[in-house]
Amino acid sequence: MSYHGQVPYLTPPDRLGDLLEGEPTYRATQLRRWLYRTPVLRTDDMTNLPLEARNRLRLWPFDVEVEQTADAGQTVKWLFRAPDGAAMEAVLIGYPDRATVCISSQAGCALGCTFCATGQFGFERHLDAGEIVAQVAYAAAHLRTVGLAGVPRRLTNIVFMGMGEPLANYDRVREAIRRIVEEMSMSARSITVSTVGLVPGMRRLAEEPWPVNLAVSLHAADDELRTSLVPINARYPIAEVEAAAAHYFETKGRRVSIEWTLMDGVNDTDEQADGLAAIARRLHAHVNVIEMNPTPLSALQPSSRIDRFLARLRRSGVNATKRINRGQEIDAACGQLRAIQADEQLKTAAPNADIG
Ligand code: SAH
Ligand code: SF4
Repeated sequence: MSYHGQVPYLTPPDRLGDLLEGEPTYRATQLRRWLYRTPVLRTDDMTNLPLEARNRLRLWPFDVEVEQTADAGQTVKWLFRAPDGAAMEAVLIGYPDRATVCISSQAGCALGCTFCATGQFGFERHLDAGEIVAQVAYAAAHLRTVGLAGVPRRLTNIVFMGMGEPLANYDRVREAIRRIVEEMSMSARSITVSTVGLVPGMRRLAEEPWPVNLAVSLHAADDELRTSLVPINARYPIAEVEAAAAHYFETKGRRVSIEWTLMDGVNDTDEQADGLAAIARRLHAHVNVIEMNPTPLSALQPSSRIDRFLARLRRSGVNATKRINRGQEIDAACGQLRAIQADEQLKTAAPNADIG
């Protein structure tokens, strides 16, 4: 089943008139505002559109399968489901002075990093630009119309750290960024694209007009270890990723950040810390050390040496932070809500598994 054709987020913003045939052209402008400037959760809230026009639209390109709140109502996670079954996750994290949404760029991921729940599930499909931007709009609409306790009502930051590799879905992610900046009027500086290190995509992103932030998921300081954790490292080894990150910094004047998910007995040694420190110093990069969330299909475990690892980086003059609890919640959600859902489905299906 598909409902392409009536779904305004799946329609290019300048073609919205196609969905409102027979209506005066200013209706398309009104709709465009409801989608991108002052997003709402329901077409019923598009108060200046006639009922007949509203009824023709199916606002969201997905159903909300799960909505969970945490952190005394300051964090909300959603599992969205497209009509073809593709899952996407988004997490809205509120603070007293800002609100960040973590969004998905693909349903699943083909890159198979061993510690990642999304990677373990494999690739389903790319998300459409409209599906990506709709996650942002949904979070913005939730903030505006429902709100989070003690959090400003305006969305301030967007991170591509949910499911999928954004630079493997380049053109659609690019169009989503374009709409976030040009249609939603958000600052490109408030957007962070996290990549596993797809070098051609990093170089393309450096040529785009927007100064978005780039975060590189490194996780290991030598190629042998990195290839065992991040298989795509065999194609784009550390030296090439570092060169592309340096190019990004030089072209954009934006410091890149390095993400490092710390795994017990794997990449938490002094030797790895020193290797990371050397790379971070050369790039003038900030390092985010992320506490690992255990996943169902891997024996890898969170490290108990996180404070020592951080201290060693800092002694080497590197600006490093532990992703604070709230940040960890983002990662807890990335791929994991879907993992939990799939687990429940497996349990439900289990009685039949023995037959035949
Ligand atoms: N594909 C992109 C963006 C999505 S993953 C990338 O890899 O950067 C977003 C972040 O979550 C990455 O830094 C990734 O390394 C991290 N991550 C994945 N699985 C994790 C886990 N089990 N525990 C903690 N962080 C994890
Ligand atoms: Fe894909 Fe990123 Fe997970 Fe690796 S860490 S499998 S690139 S989503």
